[in-house]
Amino acid sequence: MAAVYTAPQPSIPVFGRGSCSGRAAKGLLPPKRMGTRKKVHAFVRVRPTDDFAHEMIRYGDDNKTINIHLKRDTQRGVVNNQQTDWSFRLDGVLHDASQDLVYETVAKDVVSQALNGYNGTIMCYGQTGAGKTYTMTGATENYKHRGILPRALQQVFRMIEERPTHAITVRVSYLEIYNESLFDLLSTLPYVGPSVTPMTIVENPQGVFVKGLSVHLTSQEEDAFSLLFEGETNRIIASHTMNKNSSRSHSIFTIYVEAHSRTLSDEKYITSKINLVDLAGSERLGKSGSEGRVLKEATYINKSLSFLEQAIIALGDQKRDHIPFRQCKLTHALKDSLGGNCNMVLVTNIYGEATQLEETLSSLRFASRMKLVTTEPAINEKYDAERMVKNLEKELALLKQELAIHDSLANRTHVNYDPMDEIQIAEINSQVRRYLAGTLDEIDVINLRQIQEVFNQFRVVLSQQEQEVESSLRRKYTLIDKNDFATISAVQKRLASIQAGLVDADGHLVGEPDGQGFGFGVASLTTKAGKKVKSKKTVKEQPSSSARKEGASSFVSGKDLDIFTSKTQLTPSSKDGDVKDMLLRDRETSTIETLPSDSPKEELHPPRLSTPPSKSVAFEDFKNERGSEINRIFKENKSILNERRKRASETTQRINAIKKEIDITKEALHFQKSLREKQGEYENKGLMIIDEEEFQLILKLKDLKKQYRTEYQDLRDLRAEIQYCQHLVEQCRHRLLTEFDVWYNESFFIPEDVQAALKPGSSIRPGMVPVSRIVSLGEDDQDKFSQLQQMMLPEGPDSISFYNAKVKTEQKHNYLKTTMGLQQARRK
Ligand code: ADP
Ligand code: MG
Repeated sequence: MAAVYTAPQPSIPVFGRGSCSGRAAKGLLPPKRMGTRKKVHAFVRVRPTDDFAHEMIRYGDDNKTINIHLKRDTQRGVVNNQQTDWSFRLDGVLHDASQDLVYETVAKDVVSQALNGYNGTIMCYGQTGAGKTYTMTGATENYKHRGILPRALQQVFRMIEERPTHAITVRVSYLEIYNESLFDLLSTLPYVGPSVTPMTIVENPQGVFVKGLSVHLTSQEEDAFSLLFEGETNRIIASHTMNKNSSRSHSIFTIYVEAHSRTLSDEKYITSKINLVDLAGSERLGKSGSEGRVLKEATYINKSLSFLEQAIIALGDQKRDHIPFRQCKLTHALKDSLGGNCNMVLVTNIYGEATQLEETLSSLRFASRMKLVTTEPAINEKYDAERMVKNLEKELALLKQELAIHDSLANRTHVNYDPMDEIQIAEINSQVRRYLAGTLDEIDVINLRQIQEVFNQFRVVLSQQEQEVESSLRRKYTLIDKNDFATISAVQKRLASIQAGLVDADGHLVGEPDGQGFGFGVASLTTKAGKKVKSKKTVKEQPSSSARKEGASSFVSGKDLDIFTSKTQLTPSSKDGDVKDMLLRDRETSTIETLPSDSPKEELHPPRLSTPPSKSVAFEDFKNERGSEINRIFKENKSILNERRKRASETTQRINAIKKEIDITKEALHFQKSLREKQGEYENKGLMIIDEEEFQLILKLKDLKKQYRTEYQDLRDLRAEIQYCQHLVEQCRHRLLTEFDVWYNESFFIPEDVQAALKPGSSIRPGMVPVSRIVSLGEDDQDKFSQLQQMMLPEGPDSISFYNAKVKTEQKHNYLKTTMGLQQARRK
């Protein structure tokens, strides 16, 4: 099966074309370090020849050392110095070694480590004809002489057979780099199809991969071999048809391994790749006489091999943090396979002949530099996202079952634990609003999700209300920073001077218009300016209402005069319902001061009546008609409160008087006692004899103390009652105002069709919704509406579900429209 954007890879979710990376993906698991640093293993393999230079090339007894000795006469032109002897100690010298032994020595460990999740790279380096291809691929016509590549494939499949606990997949790709161009040696396979765009090397969080290179899933050894042969054949054909010398190109055969545990619970899996690299001939070309194609090839090979060397030197230098991988295609493509977390092996192929000594020396130098490079092999562990999701889903289903059992044991049925949809959230929002308005006594607790949503909706409603209050304040007042003393004092001065002209003939300040005793005093700043005027007192001393109205309107004739220094300054300083008084006052003054056309609300929604009555007039009407009952209760409570207050103050006075008398009596008694002591005490059988006067005083004191206690008890009861009454009065006041606002909006501003759409007595009254925000009906009303519809449906029951669905869709639509409308309004 091929990858190359041509065929899907159903069995493995994460593994994509060319995405097999040496480094674990970002956000997945970092490579698991073995903790030990390892050196690159460098071997030298000597090609058998009849003309072996025995005098020049000698092997050490350890089978790891190779000594080169130059005779003076052959030194000419080789190296321009005096040195005649070199000794290279590597990881092993393979002289007359069979393919079998070479594989055992060089590749076996790397391949078996790959099955454990470690990347591996085996590379053959050396001059053309030294045996790189023989070592890597081997003789394809002779099984015995097969090279590392087919043996590696064999080992991989053998090991898979030995690991039934794991589902292991194998993929292969075969890349050739010739003159800095990338070629897919497996692109000729019928299912791959021609590549539209040239291949590119891409780096992503998963690692480095060649975009456009086909990656082939192989389920058995034979398939893998076929792919290898296909690639080899293509390499040979290309050398004829494209005049492309195979020894001038680098080839990279990659085996990708991915191992998933067969135990379903394990979400971790490992990936690895083995790069088998047959490098281009390392002989120095183009020194003399080369031209055209050969020169070009020589330039590219020299460059890429020297970049490879640079990268390797940089890798060997612990202090270097930048490795120049991107200088050429070879190092870029091998970026995550050179050094790093890989097991790396280099086989340097050399000729054993005297004439090739120059290249042999050069190759051995490369090998010994390579040997210095250290790597830190690490397992590439990844998370199988799909399997993880599956496991979590299983877990979730189990927990839901568990929950259902608990519910049924606790007699809780029909509890839904699914995430809430928009309609349910809108319902909760409506519940919260009703709860806040006092039309809903309590919100039933259903489950955690619902509780969280209730809190959430409280926050939503609260922030909406805050914004409403603030914007309405801003519409009416200029807010000044409370720390801005200069502005505050300027304003205070100005207000004080204006106020001077506001005192009426009796010397009283202008009061509230209805004379009913709540709320309206003077702007709070008057008090702040230093003139302490209690609104309650003002209320009692109101002049006639018409005179007050005049006064009031002249007082608040300019908007700039109505100034709250700030919200925060008002709140803490307010006592005894001052804030509410002020709000009420503010409403009432605004009804006097503001003409309907001044209000932005009214500009947006023209009133139904050409001129609706001013709020103050309407308020009078309201108190007499619609709101008469509330007003009556309000007044009643207020008078009870006043009466209790009076009684409390009388009791306090009485207590004080009693206290005074107690003190006097105590003093008198004390005097009598001291007098008696002076005169000498009388005792009769141990009993103290006191005179009549003292006795009377004692009795009086006892009586006074009793009185004191009784009165004190009364006062305590009265205080409790006053507190309670105060609360009631506040509630009534609030209720009266809210009802008035609702009534006022409904009577003069809410379009009739909107009102008609809502049944009377519904929990959401149109007047409760700010006029500018009426976009749709509340959920409850929609429900009632749909119930009504169902009742009146002339057709059979079949049509009900149709209509139900329709209404639900409309509800959803309306809800979205409303929230959008609110958001827009808020942004404004
Ligand atoms: P390179 O790929 O390095 O250019 P080759 O692998 O093509 O060199 O080898 C050149 C020739 O030498 C081939 O015919 C190959 O069969 C032969 N040869 C190389 N190494 C050996 C070896 N160890 N044993 C037998 N023949 C070899
Ligand atoms: Mg070759």
